[in-house]
Amino acid sequence: MKYNYIFGPVLSGRLGRSLGLDLLGDRICSMDCIYCEVGATRVHTLERSPYVSAEDILHELETWIEEGNEWPDVVTLGGLGEPCLNSEMPYVIQGARELLPGVPVAVLTNSTLMLDEQARNELALADIVLPSLDSLVLEEFLALNRPCPGIGPDEVARGLLEFSSMYDGKIFLEILLAKGVNDSDENLGRLEAFCKRLQPDRVDVVTLTRPGTLKKTGPVDKDVLERWRKALHAAAPAKRQERAETRQVDEARMIEMIRASLQRRPQTVQQLVDALGLDPDQARRAIDTLVEQGHVTKRDESGTTFYHSSRHIIEG
Ligand code: SF4
Repeated sequence: MKYNYIFGPVLSGRLGRSLGLDLLGDRICSMDCIYCEVGATRVHTLERSPYVSAEDILHELETWIEEGNEWPDVVTLGGLGEPCLNSEMPYVIQGARELLPGVPVAVLTNSTLMLDEQARNELALADIVLPSLDSLVLEEFLALNRPCPGIGPDEVARGLLEFSSMYDGKIFLEILLAKGVNDSDENLGRLEAFCKRLQPDRVDVVTLTRPGTLKKTGPVDKDVLERWRKALHAAAPAKRQERAETRQVDEARMIEMIRASLQRRPQTVQQLVDALGLDPDQARRAIDTLVEQGHVTKRDESGTTFYHSSRHIIEG
């Protein structure tokens, strides 16, 4: 079947095998970045609306599953524009979780909707949020991201901090550098200070890899990229990471997540903790329960304990 709203799975360095869901169906975005890989924004707006209904997206996802495709490591909401502009995003998150139990749901966002309390609350339903913020210098932000009128970097940064204070999932911040546009020392200094406050679980500094809509810029040199990565990784303390690692989730949901994850491949306790962002003690108890119930089997392989789904062992 030809899908309109599903793409991939693609292999993502940050997320593993990621199945993408497009929530817009068109070039609808609150920014018009000069580096955008999907082309110029057609509808430049901050208005939230059901641009594509959750029902249509979830119907495609259901069909995709019924076709017997191998489950991805993560479902990522993104697509042709800013996914938070779709006011039915929470139903898509919940629906994806019900259709693919145990598969974390991630959202890619340009962070502009962090200014909206309702959008923040809806985003908090996701397991992983990947916000981008390329510059905290107004002129650079306007030149690079070309946001809707009234959106500035300070407000976006405030919204992100607000979101981080009420969110217990993972935050992977992304910063894209364009040569001569946002690679200034002033921007680096401001982003360092910001990362110290935000405490993201990851900071990814990337540069242009494909031509964007504007030909006047290009990728930064390797040494610049390395300098920025070093500075920003050092600026993001491990505090938030510790908090994420001790994330407590409802026991029944955790058992379901672990069971589904082991049905895809055998894993150690640590691999499950890292992949699903779980509290290690809680995860161990859930695995013990699954072993006692006969859903999961323990096997030692070269001195390492792997847990297998009993379904795999019977099939294998
Ligand atoms: S925010 Fe993303 S989708 Fe929107 S214009 Fe920028 S790169 Fe493209």
